[in-house]
Amino acid sequence: MRAIPDPVQNLIDAFSRLPGIGPKTASRLAFYLLKASDEVSFDLAKALESMKTKTSHCRLCFNITMAGEELCDICASSTRNDDLLCVVEEPLDVIAIERTGAYQGKYHVLQGVLSPIEGIGPDQIKIFPLLERLKNHPVEEVILATNPSMEGDTTALYLQQRILPLGIKVSRLARGLPVGGDIEYADQNTLQRALSGRQSVD
Ligand SMILES: [Zn+2]
Repeated sequence: MRAIPDPVQNLIDAFSRLPGIGPKTASRLAFYLLKASDEVSFDLAKALESMKTKTSHCRLCFNITMAGEELCDICASSTRNDDLLCVVEEPLDVIAIERTGAYQGKYHVLQGVLSPIEGIGPDQIKIFPLLERLKNHPVEEVILATNPSMEGDTTALYLQQRILPLGIKVSRLARGLPVGGDIEYADQNTLQRALSGRQSVD
């Protein structure tokens, strides 16, 4: 005899695959939904489906955009500075930097970082589209805003070695961000200081 019916166990397993959710939290969430009104679960299911079907990626910077829109609002904006390009790991980093209000340039979202340990190479993230973009439309400065982690540093070094020969100035966010921390969780002041104190690399 099984203690937990399959449909409940399936949901627990699905929650367990999410980052930061261990088996205990997964069980708690599943049993919460089992007990809550049908509406709570159906709304959640609908929200998940609509997120996956109604969003897409900007074909220029790979930030999130609404399905059917080629460019995100930032790429499409005529008031943003085209000479500055900030390279980040994830769309959440764009949101964090936008929140500081200290940056008026454009972005490129790598959708990951290089990680030799996990077998993630330049082909698996949006590095080649970035280099192509810079060759076709050179900018004055590229700001490497990958996280201050081993993978973030590896990615920044890789990019620096490929962007500098294009004759483009490259800078890296100033330290002061906690090492191993995530840009998306940095408070606004720290991130603003890291941006304005960015160091040129050469
Ligand atoms: Zn875009």
